[in-house]
Amino acid sequence: MPHISVTVALDSGLPRTSVSKILFCQLSALTFGSAVCNAQDNGLSRLDHQLVAAGINAAVGGLTAGAWQGLSGKSFWNGFARGAGGGIMVFAGKRIIAERSPAWWWIGRELAALGSSEVANAASGRVSFDRITIPVGPVRFHFEPRRKRLPSPTIDFASTVAAVVVSTRAGSRIGIDESLATGTLVFIVRDKSMAIGGNAAGVITLSEIVPDGNFPRLESKRSVISHEMIHSAQYDFILTAWADPIQKSLVRKLHLDGRVTRYVDFNLLLPLQMAANSLVPYKSRPWEKEARLLVSDDK
Ligand SMILES: [Zn+2]
Repeated sequence: MPHISVTVALDSGLPRTSVSKILFCQLSALTFGSAVCNAQDNGLSRLDHQLVAAGINAAVGGLTAGAWQGLSGKSFWNGFARGAGGGIMVFAGKRIIAERSPAWWWIGRELAALGSSEVANAASGRVSFDRITIPVGPVRFHFEPRRKRLPSPTIDFASTVAAVVVSTRAGSRIGIDESLATGTLVFIVRDKSMAIGGNAAGVITLSEIVPDGNFPRLESKRSVISHEMIHSAQYDFILTAWADPIQKSLVRKLHLDGRVTRYVDFNLLLPLQMAANSLVPYKSRPWEKEARLLVSDDK
C-alpha cells in the first residue's frame, strides 16, 4: 500500500516552510495517492539505517559504561562490553517507538529505559538488572528487583518545570489521549512556535495543526509523536546513565542534604543539552539525525 513518510524537521527551530511542506504532502497524497514526499533519500537501505543506528547506540552505551568504569580505576573494556549490550537494548526500544503505534510507544520507551538502566549498572559495576529506572511522565520509578522492595519514586525537576511552562501558555492543553498512549506528558499547543512538534526535558508538544489521521494513508501525527518519543528515550538515557550518577556523586562529595535529592532528579546536564541545541544547526544535530533516520523509513 502506498505510504507517505512525512518526517521533515519536527522540533523547535523548524522552519515554517516545513509546515507548508506537510500541507503539500497531504494534498499530494489526496491527489496522487503515491509517495511523493519521502523525507530522506540518502542512498541507504532501510536495513542500513537500522544497522547504523544500532551500532551508534551500542557505541554510546559502551563508551558511557567504559568511561565511568575507567574513571573509577576499573576495566574500560569490561564496562564497554556490558554497556554496548545496554545500548543495543536502548536501540531496540527506539526501534519499537518508531513503529508509530500507541501500544509500542509505551513498550518502546520502557525497553529503552531498561537498556539505559543496564548501561548505568555496567557503568557502576553493579550486576545486571540490579537497578532499573522506569519513567512515567515526569516521575521515575527506581526498582531493585533483588532486594524485593517497593520501587522508590523520584520526580524530574526539569521535566516538571517544562510541563508547567507549556501548560500555562495561552491556547495549550494537555493531550490526554496522546499522553495515555505514550506514557509521556503530551501537550497540544497553538501554532505559534514555528514548530509542529517539540520535546523539552521529555515533555512533548504537538502543534494543533498536525494532521490527526483523518487523511487517507497518512500517519503524520503518529510520525511526529514517534519522532519526539525518540527524543524522550534519548533524554531518559542521559538522565539515567549520566545525570543520576553525577548527582549522586556530588551529593556524596559535597556532603549535601540527601533528603531532597532522594525524591528529586536535577538534570545537571540540561544546560549542556540546551547549549548543544543552540550551537549545532538543526540538521547537523546527531540526536535529530537519529530520530529522523528511525522514523522516516518507509514500512
Ligand atoms: Zn527532533
